[in-house]
Order: sequence, then structure tokens, then C-alpha cells
Amino acid sequence: MNLRIGNGFDSHRLVEGRDFILGGIKIPYERGLAGHSDGDALIHAIIDALLGAIAFGDIGELFPDNDPQYKNIQSDKLLHETLEHINKACYRINNLDCTIICEAPKLSPYKKNIINNLAGLMSIEPTQVSIKAKTAEQMGAFGRGEGIAVIATVLIEKLKSLETA
Ligand code: MG
Repeated sequence: MNLRIGNGFDSHRLVEGRDFILGGIKIPYERGLAGHSDGDALIHAIIDALLGAIAFGDIGELFPDNDPQYKNIQSDKLLHETLEHINKACYRINNLDCTIICEAPKLSPYKKNIINNLAGLMSIEPTQVSIKAKTAEQMGAFGRGEGIAVIATVLIEKLKSLETA
């Protein structure tokens, strides 16, 4: 079996006047994630984990934040393009494990929606997607709720038909 692993990290500031979108799901909150795109730190960390797994650079190289075509773009479109690279490399996702560090809003009511949405976007089963949310115990910038951070790990496996070819 040909397995590869990748990790990704992302953080975004919380600012007023922006929607809070995480894993493609809009979560009601008084502030949202700043960013050139929609600021979806969860999808960005997943993209970096996927790119890392195939040693294909990083999100900033593929989707430069000074490129107008990515201004306010929905991050699921970036994920879609990333998955094309995974497909082209003849890999498929085995499983994904993500940790979100977020003081507020409380994410537990939305976890199931996020998991189902991510699974749909990646054409995998919800059981292949793990989302964990925790606070920073009021320590530092994340603990003060100035932003959120996400760590993602992904395991991918070579498609069998090509492994034996
Ligand atoms: Mg980002």
C-alpha cells in the first residue's frame, strides 16, 4: 500500500463586517474571518495538508493572495482545484483529522454540518472526516478571541489499479 501523509496549518483574524465561514458552513457570529478569500481557515488548512501529502507546494503558491481572481473566492472552489491535483497524482483521501482552536463562537452545534459538507466537497464519507474544536484556555491572541487557528492532517493512498500497473 502506498500511503502519504500531509499536514496543514492556517490562522485568520476575526474582524467585524465579515461572515464567519468555516468548512464551507456559515456560522452566526458578530465577527467573521478576515482574508483575501472568504477566510475559511479550515478549508485552507486542509488544502495545505493535501498539497503537502503530494509535495505540491502550498496554498499561497497555488492561489496567490495578491491575485484578483481569488478575491473573496469561496474556499470550496480552491479545495476543488486542489483535489484535481490529488486525482492527477492518482491518490485518494483515506482520512482527515482537523483541530480548530477557537475561543468563540462555540462550534459544537455546527460540527456535524461541517463534517457532512467537507465530506461532500471531497467525495468521501463523513466517517473519514474528523473535526475537533477546542479553546486556547484564554492564553494569547487565540485565547483572547482575536482569531482562530486550524491544524489539519490528511492521509492519502495510491489508487490500487495504478499501484499494480
Ligand atoms: Mg488562510
